[in-house]
Amino acid sequence: MLRDTRVEINLSHIRENMMKIRHALPETVKLMAVVKADGYGHGDVASAQMAKQAGADLLAVAYLNEALRLRANGIEMPILILTPINPQEVMFALEHQFMLTVTSASWFEEMRAYKHCSTVNKLQVHVKMDTGLGRIGIQSKEEWDELVPWLQAEDVIVDGFYTHFATAGKADTSFLRQQHARFIEMMEWSKASGLKVNSYHCAGSAAALRFPELGMDMVRIGAAMFGFYPEQLVDTVKLKPALSLRSNIMQVKLLHKGECIGYDNSYRADEDQWIGTVPIGYADGWSQSMRGTEMLVQGERTPIVGKICMDQLMVRLHGPCELGTEVTLIGSQGDDQITFAELAAHLGSVSQEISTSISPRVTRIYKNEGRYDGYETITNHH
Ligand SMILES: *Cc1c(COP(=O)(O)O)cnc(C)c1O
Repeated sequence: MLRDTRVEINLSHIRENMMKIRHALPETVKLMAVVKADGYGHGDVASAQMAKQAGADLLAVAYLNEALRLRANGIEMPILILTPINPQEVMFALEHQFMLTVTSASWFEEMRAYKHCSTVNKLQVHVKMDTGLGRIGIQSKEEWDELVPWLQAEDVIVDGFYTHFATAGKADTSFLRQQHARFIEMMEWSKASGLKVNSYHCAGSAAALRFPELGMDMVRIGAAMFGFYPEQLVDTVKLKPALSLRSNIMQVKLLHKGECIGYDNSYRADEDQWIGTVPIGYADGWSQSMRGTEMLVQGERTPIVGKICMDQLMVRLHGPCELGTEVTLIGSQGDDQITFAELAAHLGSVSQEISTSISPRVTRIYKNEGRYDGYETITNHH
């Protein structure tokens, strides 16, 4: 069953964005497509397929369950899991040949109790270094020295050695340079240890697009694949958003001067005005903090009025309109468009928080080369 409120995903844009990124990189740099959080809300399996068509070599996700979901849907590309998994679950990783992020000797120690010899597969790991993001990873030489003996084990392959930048999308590059210098220093530790490391990598979307020389052996591209990138800082490629969000007006009424609408009488009309109800609410991922933003109805900007409810919200129309009139919450309509960037600026967040917040209750419609390419609803999404 289709709901009026639907996300439309233009798969060709995902593929084209990835091809442009591929061409902007030196040929020797491997391309890893990051499809965590259901492909930033665009569909993990579909995004992985588009990335592969565009020349991506590997995939990454944040968690083990996301990697298992890709395998269950027939995705056979190598997959890196960016967050350390529970050591107890190591056999899942071996069975499916996932590459694991490791950050400590204690992880290995615990994992050893759960790795049976029944599999011939070697454990493929990427060591994560913390050069300044302060999230996960090894910070000191002591931690590294403790880890090395575990990495030297016969059944372990050190596939990668990596870090992640904190400020790659900012105009000021001083902290980025500092992190990069620290990473170079840490790479020397790995070289001195005599371990064979297959690839060194540090750049996500913003770093890879702004500074191709940071590409090293591989780049990890998430945001840019979906058209999210610091446009004002990157003039080499032009990427397109792939997702739009639309709905239809379900009720229209005239609100008289002085009357209120919404929970807690949150909006009072200071003159007679037309109000439309749109079937999307915070349970669909349209947070109450979206109050103050606009959507497009008949090509005109239409503000949200009153508190956003769980399943509906109200807008102030420019005049009466027919039931079923299309509403564009993200994307273009007529000559105007509502961009992720403008919504993110209102929320004080980033585009990917908005795309990943759209809940599974919203129907997903896939288009490829302008053609309808299937849909998913909550009944078959999980
Ligand atoms: C999410 C993530 C990425 C992708 O970053 P984008 O800016 O979306 O390209 C890369 N590396 C790591 C470690 C991540 O967690």
